[in-house]
Amino acid sequence: MNIEKLTKEVRNVPDFPIPGIQFKDVTTLFKNPAILHEIVDGLYEIYKNKGITKVVGIESRGFILGPLLAVRLNAGFIPIRKPGKLPAAIFEESYEKEYGTDAIQIHQDAIDSDDIVLLHDDLLATGGTMQAAVRLVRKFNPRKIYVNFLIELEDLKGRVGFPSDIQVDSIIKYDI
Ligand code: AMP
Repeated sequence: MNIEKLTKEVRNVPDFPIPGIQFKDVTTLFKNPAILHEIVDGLYEIYKNKGITKVVGIESRGFILGPLLAVRLNAGFIPIRKPGKLPAAIFEESYEKEYGTDAIQIHQDAIDSDDIVLLHDDLLATGGTMQAAVRLVRKFNPRKIYVNFLIELEDLKGRVGFPSDIQVDSIIKYDI
């Protein structure tokens, strides 16, 4: 993967959705067939020998690369969704946002204890969302958990909040 090129191709949108946020827009990467291919190939290379059996994507931008990667890895795809979207029995975890709390849910039959799970989201900021997702997946006691982001905002130090036994990878890193 040409990380420098990928880094330049992400569109930075200042003050979206609220003043002060530098929004990293990944649609500029995904609309380009060569770049989309390069990203999926690059992710596959990282995880191809890990024995991944389930890829878990977080609503909603984790639903773009997550299923593409699951197909390449011959793994199943599991959605983690906002409350009220999953139709069957669920587990739920809450997490702190800048203002108030939020929650995410997963189906109770989504993962087995013999699964090796790769969690994916587009971007690591404070880490609150993905750390809640890790807590959800840990309820199933899988053999191993990996965490992947396309983008990491390193200054926010989101990765320090993950348990030390979990490998956290990101492809594109920004200081802001
Ligand atoms: P956090 O829980 O703080 O790590 O936030 C991660 C979630 O918020 C991800 O699902 C991202 O899609 C979204 N997000 C947070 N900050 C940004 C940003 N600067 N640009 C784009 N998406 C963001």
